[in-house]
Amino acid sequence: MIKKAEKFLKEYYGFDTFRPGQQAVIEQLLDNNNTLAIMPTGGGKSLCYQIPGLTLAGTAVVVSPLISLMKDQVDALQALGISATYINSSLQADEQQSRMNELRNGVYDFVYVAPERFEAPSFIETIKTIPLSLIAFDEAHCISQWGHDFRPSYRSVVPALQKIPNLPVVVALTATATDEVIQDIQRLIQVEDNHVINTGFARENLAFHVIKGRDKKEFVLDYINDRKKESGIIYASTRKQVDMLYSYLSSKDLSVAKYHAGLSEQVRKDSQNAFTQEENNIMIATNAFGMGIDKSNVRYVIHYALPMNIESYYQEAGRAGRDGEQSDCILLFSGQDIQLQKFLIEQSLMEEDKKTKEYKKLQAMVNYCHTHNCLQNYVLHYFNDYSMKNDCNNCGNCLHDDEREEMTREAQMVLSCVKRMNQRFGAGLTAKVLKGSKDKKVIEFGFNKLTTYGLMSHYTEKEITNFIHFLVAEAILSSGEERFPILKLTKEAEAVLKGQKQIWMFTGSVKRSVETDYKE
Ligand code: ADP
Repeated sequence: MIKKAEKFLKEYYGFDTFRPGQQAVIEQLLDNNNTLAIMPTGGGKSLCYQIPGLTLAGTAVVVSPLISLMKDQVDALQALGISATYINSSLQADEQQSRMNELRNGVYDFVYVAPERFEAPSFIETIKTIPLSLIAFDEAHCISQWGHDFRPSYRSVVPALQKIPNLPVVVALTATATDEVIQDIQRLIQVEDNHVINTGFARENLAFHVIKGRDKKEFVLDYINDRKKESGIIYASTRKQVDMLYSYLSSKDLSVAKYHAGLSEQVRKDSQNAFTQEENNIMIATNAFGMGIDKSNVRYVIHYALPMNIESYYQEAGRAGRDGEQSDCILLFSGQDIQLQKFLIEQSLMEEDKKTKEYKKLQAMVNYCHTHNCLQNYVLHYFNDYSMKNDCNNCGNCLHDDEREEMTREAQMVLSCVKRMNQRFGAGLTAKVLKGSKDKKVIEFGFNKLTTYGLMSHYTEKEITNFIHFLVAEAILSSGEERFPILKLTKEAEAVLKGQKQIWMFTGSVKRSVETDYKE
């Protein structure tokens, strides 16, 4: 069977060899084992279900959360001479009906549907009666309610699958999954541990950067002016911000398109086409734009504001460089963005424990912005991927040419101050105490009597706060568990206090991060 798969790889797609993980996924499916494939964006997940879909007899049902990308995928298959279609709510009722009839007649090798389709009894009845080659879940993290992008419509899919007597092998594919999500997917579609294929998340061709303290608009303009012909995406956090950037960059004669949920469906469609077909090479969008966008030569993704968690960030940033060419992922950080994200969590309708989880995830995102270590590795470790042995040597931190200076003594001052304040306060008040401020609260709590009071008076309060953020990012202090961040010492902190662990920072970075403070 695998010989046949190799033949299809060459004949249909024109590729000589499989990418890492592809062959293993295909073999497992051909052996009738339910499989979960975790591969980075651009890793070639489509082939993993398409080749078995071609090899095995019957129709493959591909469940995908986004209607907007089904047509592209179907077009791509048809262009290869493969019989494929999609059935979704974008079609008129009679067209849906006629495709359902064709499906019943076994015309298609592939049919793409949204999860909602599993709520339609007629669809379930149909797929019960025809030979099926496999069922594939693309963007499978959407199945799990632990995923950052959970779609409630998936709730009906798993019970529906159980009703299918001729249920074929099932494959789930995703580029973004925490351990929790992986386990959830395994449980939902019954994948054994040894049938999870995880090629790791590393994207060697992406250079990650965090830019702090620059005028954001100016940065974006300078950056784009240096590469006017290249395609890029700029993610903003609100529709208003998208509109603002759109008019700003248009006024500079740049070829921009915009996309957000406040625009009509037609406008969104046109803008997406203009971008994919390179009429406009710069897309300014909210996170409504992107999942499944079939454009492989995006050379940069800029985040104009802080995303809500690492999962979303990595997925959005990962839309750069799907063709394997060097590309940039730039995050423009300002402390004020944290407030917006907190506000969004707070006013959401989530349960309290879910909110607490989101705060924790947001803190991990903020820590990404403050760390001085390899940014690619930071993200990989977040996903519990320790497969990259060395640092990436490609990100802003790895390529930073400043010297590092030892800040162990300053770290000890902060830590002992946090300890003496009984680990009950946040960075702001701690910085005031270390500065030796006469602030009312400091006096009220009697912190002016602590031995650590005024210990760092040669720094400004802002500099001390920034240094504390750095210590949180390096996991020397923790602040993530609480709604109102309270500094606590971690295990690492003890090692620092005992002088067993040193703290190094880029020379002058505490000062620098303050001198050029945030400007919108
Ligand atoms: P993903 O869904 O994992 O992001 P795709 O399936 O869209 O990735 O594949 C990304 C690109 O890689 C596509 O242009 C695809 O044609 C190409 N590709 C996939 N598999 C191979 C392979 N074995 N050899 C060469 N190119 C491949």
